[in-house]
Amino acid sequence: MPKKEVLRQCVACRESKNKNELLRICRTTEGDVCVDLTGRMNGRGVYLCKDESCVELAFKRKALDKSLKIHISDVRVDELKSEILEVINN
Ligand SMILES: [Zn+2]
Repeated sequence: MPKKEVLRQCVACRESKNKNELLRICRTTEGDVCVDLTGRMNGRGVYLCKDESCVELAFKRKALDKSLKIHISDVRVDELKSEILEVINN
């Protein structure tokens, strides 16, 4: 049986893509957000294209706050954004 493709939707551009092409952002049990590099972290997660424009768009629209149902502070937004960009650009 062929392996089924797992499609997930990017919170910014709303395009459905293969999980491997997306980055998972996860809400931790402590109420923080982090970049889920393994894709296996527990907790609510959202997906983002590995694309700088999608990252910018997601933060501009506060898409992560809305989808993860938490408030991300301005300081944390800056940190998280640079974390994500670092992963994407590596
Ligand atoms: Zn996208």
